[in-house]
Amino acid sequence: MEENWDVIVVGAGTGGIPTAVFAGQRGARVLLIEADERIGGTLHWSSGQMTAAGTKLQKKHGIEDHPDWHFDDCMRISNGDFEPVLGRIAIENAAESFDWLCDNGFEPEPNTPVAGWGHEPHRTRRYAWGPDGGLSILQAMEPQLDAEIARGTVTLIMQTKMTRLLTKDGAVIGIEVEARDGEKAEVFGQNVVLTTGGYAASREVWAELTPNHPLRSHCNPYSRGEGILAARAVGAKVDKGEQFLCSYAGVMQDPNDPLSVRGGLMLNPHFRRPWEICVNRQGKRFVREDHPSVDVREHALLEQDGMEMWFVFDEGIRQNAPHFHSEIEREHIVGLFNKHPSYFMADTVEELAEKCGVDGAGLKATLVEYNEAVESKKDKFGRESLPRPFDRAPYYAIRAVGFTVLSPGGLNIDKEMRVLDTENQPIANLFASGEVLGKARISGKTYLSGMSVLPAITFGRLLGQKKLTWRGLNSAAAE
Ligand SMILES: Cc1cc2nc3c(=O)[nH]c(=O)nc-3n(C[C@H](O)[C@H](O)[C@H](O)COP(=O)(O)OP(=O)(O)OC[C@H]3O[C@@H](n4cnc5c(N)ncnc54)[C@H](O)[C@@H]3O)c2cc1C
Repeated sequence: MEENWDVIVVGAGTGGIPTAVFAGQRGARVLLIEADERIGGTLHWSSGQMTAAGTKLQKKHGIEDHPDWHFDDCMRISNGDFEPVLGRIAIENAAESFDWLCDNGFEPEPNTPVAGWGHEPHRTRRYAWGPDGGLSILQAMEPQLDAEIARGTVTLIMQTKMTRLLTKDGAVIGIEVEARDGEKAEVFGQNVVLTTGGYAASREVWAELTPNHPLRSHCNPYSRGEGILAARAVGAKVDKGEQFLCSYAGVMQDPNDPLSVRGGLMLNPHFRRPWEICVNRQGKRFVREDHPSVDVREHALLEQDGMEMWFVFDEGIRQNAPHFHSEIEREHIVGLFNKHPSYFMADTVEELAEKCGVDGAGLKATLVEYNEAVESKKDKFGRESLPRPFDRAPYYAIRAVGFTVLSPGGLNIDKEMRVLDTENQPIANLFASGEVLGKARISGKTYLSGMSVLPAITFGRLLGQKKLTWRGLNSAAAE
């Protein structure tokens, strides 16, 4: 490994690849370090949904849009709960990033853009993704990276992780790396960019940064918070870990493994009206199951004991309701009850409650009350989907949990993308982009559609294109 690089990028994922590509295009000698044996990071997991206003795609469809409207939507949906300066940078530069992907082979799904999908809808159609989710994005970016590697501007080292940041007189001067065989080395650079992703795969980091919410996640196992910890060790501020909102809702494949959550339940009432009821550990309903706002349902679940709930139904509902799972066939679901650790079935309500760990008296009373609501067509939560009462054994329950695909907290940066210390002063030569900043930084305690993937790409692009400087960079390339 060469000893002194213009730019060291740590993490060859969503944000790291464009950082390296654009810095390389400006002539930087870039070292790109990746812990995994493949590049792409969370793009291998992500749905890759992106939101941008003023894209060529929108123009092609005759959709009028403006970043100011996008910003207003984000403010409205998050109740103003995100950092406006960084949010504005992400939003104002989103279309250029999205167009860059399209110019390089990214083909959005034909039915996109849409106004909303899994999260709160925007005022106009600006939300798009590719046929293979995050992989469609990687397929567009990878050839760009390959071109820079071929030109000799970017050197990619795989299966090697950063273990700490090196400093001198308070400035970052490089990183320590460790290869899979345990061999360590120090590498030096004028700029170090942390694009190491979040921490939703680390029980320890989650417990420390987001202590009031249990970890249940479905994410890249390399999202271990190593960049966050390394920056904190040299004085960086880490915040927003408590700005957490769970997703609604997933099933743990192993109740003892917080990383075993899988989605797939069809919970969007716009696509499938619920026939089941949702109860908490007390056997009580806690939300209007068909509330059109997923944000309302997510916040309600967040407040429940253990962030868990049970979808309860009976044989009549099971046989007549539309299919409940997008990933498992109807006939296979039946076989899961009393075999899968989150699927329960019993001949009586009391027995079901006992099996699944819900209060029996509470559940019984809830079913009586729900049956009355079906009869009178008046539900105390205002639920409109009241297709049939509970009247036929056996009874069923699926335990589900609020889970996450992202981590809320992370590093703070200024508008030059310099990592800030606990006094809000930039740490010299240290930059960051992507989930290492924490999802809450530009989403707040809610989900803003497509506001993680594209901001990671945008900040990476801006870093490589204009924010980073190095000795020997000519002034034309500097801006
Ligand atoms: C299931 C799922 C669905 C999602 N859907 C969406 C969506 O539709 N829209 C959206 O906007 N967001 C979505 N997200 C979130 C979004 O995909 C991520 O926030 C984003 O991709 C993270 O990008 P990143 O560059 O910060 O991290 P990553 O893409 O994870 O890249 C980080 C890289 O750093 C490497 N690394 C980590 N530690 C080290 C180390 N110490 N040394 C060297 N390398 C290291 C990792 O191996 C990885 O390659 C989703 C996430 C998941 C899991």
